[in-house]
Amino acid sequence: MKKALLLSLAAFCLALLLPNLLRRTAVRPVVAAPALRPESETASPAGPDGSVTVTLLHDGEVLTLTMAEYLPGAVAGEMPASFAAEALRAQAVASRTYALRRAGQARSRHPQAALCDDPGCCQRWLDEEQRRALWGAEYDRWAAAVEAAEQDTDGAILVSGGEPILACFHASSPGRTESSAAVWGAALPYLVSVDSPESAETVPGFVTEAVFSPEEFRAAVLDAHPAAGLTGKPETWLGQRVTDAAGRTALLQVGDAALTGTELRQLFSLRSAAFTLEWTGESFLFTVTGSGHGAGMSQYGANVMAAEGASWQEILAHYYPGTELGLMA
Ligand SMILES: [Zn+2]
Repeated sequence: MKKALLLSLAAFCLALLLPNLLRRTAVRPVVAAPALRPESETASPAGPDGSVTVTLLHDGEVLTLTMAEYLPGAVAGEMPASFAAEALRAQAVASRTYALRRAGQARSRHPQAALCDDPGCCQRWLDEEQRRALWGAEYDRWAAAVEAAEQDTDGAILVSGGEPILACFHASSPGRTESSAAVWGAALPYLVSVDSPESAETVPGFVTEAVFSPEEFRAAVLDAHPAAGLTGKPETWLGQRVTDAAGRTALLQVGDAALTGTELRQLFSLRSAAFTLEWTGESFLFTVTGSGHGAGMSQYGANVMAAEGASWQEILAHYYPGTELGLMA
C-alpha cells in the first residue's frame, strides 16, 4: 500500500516536472546527464528540492533545511510575491543556483553555515513568522505563490562549464544590466551587460535623488581619499565623469582623486551606480536610476518580460546568456 502511494506520488512529481523539462528543451539545451535521473531514482516524493539540504544562519541559529524549505523564504525575501509567476519562477532558479554555489564554497564570515540571511553577504531569507508579518491578510495567497515558484522549477539550476553559476541579481537597471567586470573587476562570461526593459512606468522609485551639503560631501570623500584635496570652492570639486556602456558612472574625478561609480555608490549609500552628480549652487545632488549592483537578472526587468509573455526559461536565458538549465545532481 505504502509502496503504491510512493509510486503514484513519484509519477505525479514526474508529471509535474516533465512539462517544465520539455519547455526548457524548447528554449535551449538542457544538461542531460545530471538533469534526467533514471526513473528508479525519482521515487523521492519530495523531488530534487526535497532531497538536498543547506545550512542557514538565521537569527543566530544554524538551521538545516531542504532546498524545498529554504527556497520559498529566499524568494519571499528577495522578490515581491506579487510579481508575475514566471518572474517568481526565474527568481526561484536564480536563488536555488546562488544557494547551491554558495554552499559549495567556504565562507569565512560564517563557517558554521553555508548560507546566511543577509542580502549583503548571501541572500535574504524570511522565516514563516516574517512572511506572515510581511504579507498580513494576504499570507495564504503569497505563500502559495512563492511555494509554487519552487515546486514549478523543482531542482532546476543554471550551469556553465558544468558548475552552478554565480546567479547574482538586482532590483532594476537603467535600460541595461551591468557586467560583473564593471562591478567587481572579475569577468564572467554569463554576467555581461544586456538590455533590460523596465522603466519609470514599471518600477516604483526608479529614479531617486540624494542630496549632500558641501561639508558632508567633502568629509565622505576625504575619509576614503585623504589626498582628494577639495580645498577650493565646491563648484570646482567635480571633474570629468566617464560613463560605461551600461549607462553607469565608471569614473568621476572629485578634486584630486578619481573615484569609481561603485565606490561613490558605497560612500553615499546610493541605490545604484547609474547616477549623475551636480553642484546645485547649494548642495551636491545625485540623481540615481535603478537599484542594485546591476549584474545578472534584473528583477523588475524579469517582471516586465513576464508581463510581455516570456517564460522563466526565456527570462533566465536573457539575463544569464550562454548558460544552460540543468537539475541539481
Ligand atoms: Zn552569508
